[in-house]
Amino acid sequence: MMSLCPNCGTELDGEAKFCASCGYEVSPRSINQERNQEFNARDNAIEPEIVRTPSAPIKERMVAGILAILLGGFGIHKFYLNDMNMGLIYLLFCWTTIPQILGIIEGIMYLTATDEEFQEKYVKY
Ligand SMILES: [Zn+2]
Repeated sequence: MMSLCPNCGTELDGEAKFCASCGYEVSPRSINQERNQEFNARDNAIEPEIVRTPSAPIKERMVAGILAILLGGFGIHKFYLNDMNMGLIYLLFCWTTIPQILGIIEGIMYLTATDEEFQEKYVKY
C-alpha cells in the first residue's frame, strides 16, 4: 500500500518509517490507525450471526410461583415444572401441611429469582 509523505508529498513504501526523499519521520500512529481500520473492516465482514440458545420449553416463572403458593401443598408447581417425583411426594404428604409450607417458600423463591436462575435451578427437563 502506498502513502504520501505528509511533508513533501513523495510516495512512501508501506513499511517505511522515514521519507526517502526528505527524511521526514512518518508518524507510526497514523500507520497503525490505517492498519486498525483494515482489521476492523475484516472483523465486520466475518462477524458471526448472533447465536441463539436452543429453544427449551419455557416455564412461566410467575405461574410456577403462584401455583406453588396457592396449590403447593398438592405439589402442583412440581408437576408444572416437570418434577413428577417431587410432585407425587408433595401430594402424598399434603395432609401434613409441610408441602404447603415448602410450596409457599418455593413460590417466593421462584418469584424472586431471575428468569435465568429459575430456568436453571427449578425447571426439570
Ligand atoms: Zn518527504
